[in-house]
Amino acid sequence: MKLLVSIHDVTPALERDVRALWDLCAECGIVPALLVVPNWHGRWPLDEYPRFTAWLRAREREGAEILLHGERHDEVGLPRRLPDHVKAFGATAREGEFLTLDERAAAARIDRGVECLRRAGLSPLGFVPPAWLAREATFTAVRDAGLAVSEDVATIRLHTRATRLASPVIRWSGRTLLRARVSAAVADVRWVTARGNWLTRLALHPSDLRHAASAASVVAHLKRWRRDRHPFRYSLL
Ligand SMILES: [Zn+2]
Repeated sequence: MKLLVSIHDVTPALERDVRALWDLCAECGIVPALLVVPNWHGRWPLDEYPRFTAWLRAREREGAEILLHGERHDEVGLPRRLPDHVKAFGATAREGEFLTLDERAAAARIDRGVECLRRAGLSPLGFVPPAWLAREATFTAVRDAGLAVSEDVATIRLHTRATRLASPVIRWSGRTLLRARVSAAVADVRWVTARGNWLTRLALHPSDLRHAASAASVVAHLKRWRRDRHPFRYSLL
């Protein structure tokens, strides 16, 4: 039984909490994948944060897999239509950058993002859309960009083998106190319901640490799942 742990929203804007999550994983003997945002909310271009990119390169040398996670992460300048609202209902506060994009627009952002990460000396192996929200066109663009892996909320997509693996994802929400408490309760339920799957994903977000309820749940479940399973990597799938 395997465990795939990732840290989302890796950006200098959230550096303190990204590092705190990394340290939590390290204490559990886990090297998480890092889902990097090249220009968080259009205001945190990686190019301007050499100390942070040096930290990322050091983590990659330690074995962390790097995945592109949007270009700016938010939906600024991207109006939703009704089906988009339905799809994203309850999932995100306007942080679904790829929710509305067609293939051309998705490809342009992915290409720029990959270039940015490579300029920073990183080697991205995949792409995960912010909030896991994207049309099928985005996954086509990921494949055409030569990236090996992407994922949605229910599956991991292996583009090199044109296959999808069912894999439950456990995540928390620190957006409000209520959501933090609910997500901690859901994580407890998932400990039971997701255990039958050979590959469980734990997706950590810097915002999980905003509230004690979600932060404590993240720590408890990291330890609990780690005791139960071997850490795994996207590149081994
Ligand atoms: Zn994200």
